[in-house]
Amino acid sequence: MKFADLHLHTQFSDGTFTPEELAGHGARLGFAALALTDHDSVEGCARMAAACAAAGIEFIIGAELTAEHEDTEVHILGYFLDAENQTLLTEIARFQAVRQQRIHEMVARLNGVNVPLAAESVFALANCKSPGRPHVARALVKAGLVGHLDEAFEKYLKKGRPAWVPKTKVSALESVGLIHQAGGLAVMAHPGLNRTDEIIPALVDAGLDGIECFHTKHSTALSERYLEIADRFHLLVTGGSDCHGFSKGKPLIGGVKLPYAHVEKMKQAVAAKNSADGRHATAK
Ligand code: AMP
Ligand code: ZN
Ligand code: FE
Ligand code: FE
Repeated sequence: MKFADLHLHTQFSDGTFTPEELAGHGARLGFAALALTDHDSVEGCARMAAACAAAGIEFIIGAELTAEHEDTEVHILGYFLDAENQTLLTEIARFQAVRQQRIHEMVARLNGVNVPLAAESVFALANCKSPGRPHVARALVKAGLVGHLDEAFEKYLKKGRPAWVPKTKVSALESVGLIHQAGGLAVMAHPGLNRTDEIIPALVDAGLDGIECFHTKHSTALSERYLEIADRFHLLVTGGSDCHGFSKGKPLIGGVKLPYAHVEKMKQAVAAKNSADGRHATAK
């Protein structure tokens, strides 16, 4: 049986693996297909594509866009994106600028509560265009200002804590459109994490293509719930580990194995969509 992991992060956002290391783990675990879904970035996809090709793994270009719907954060996954689409790249650059500015604001707030972290240490550690709270947490640990990553989130970084800074986010409906105009499929990420089921009908109206039913943090009962919702709204079914590397101990890759038949359905959907649009099909 062939399996896929369609939710993975690298050092191009807040993962700790390089694309080559991630593809290596995918090969070791026997995956037939992998998608890279860094936060607000497609930058790692070229290297991941090459590493997967070398390992005999099918690669799907992806990204995880941070969005919101009625003040609730939602993550929208894009798959089979045209990584050279100018509108997509312009918008991603804007999201990344917001993320970089937010690091400065989080550091200023930390300094305001007498935590002497320098923004430069966060940027040096992140070494990517799409920095986020995990990088601030790692910089705090590295500087000896907290004992471990969870302490950084609990004390300073989670919502309501002194260094929490909201992200200016694109609307989820717009992010679905952004993915579509780049030839991709738009999928709601880990709905069970946010428990935001009430927004699914609006996303479906905006053209949502799929829902991530299988995820590390979905119990069997939650996966079944979203499989039922996918069926009801005629949505594609996706799944992935959301592996961020070794940042939380053992890597999560291998913990979610999406049957390859779902990838086949995604490829059929993207091919049908793009031929209907008169666009060059990006599915291979
Ligand atoms: P950001 O996009 O900058 O708001 O950061 C969100 C990322 O932080 C997600 O990818 C999560 O994996 C990570 N995260 C959120 N809460 C925690 C936590 N309590 N401990 C560790 N990582 C977390
Ligand atoms: Zn992340
Ligand atoms: Fe997410
Ligand atoms: Fe993720």
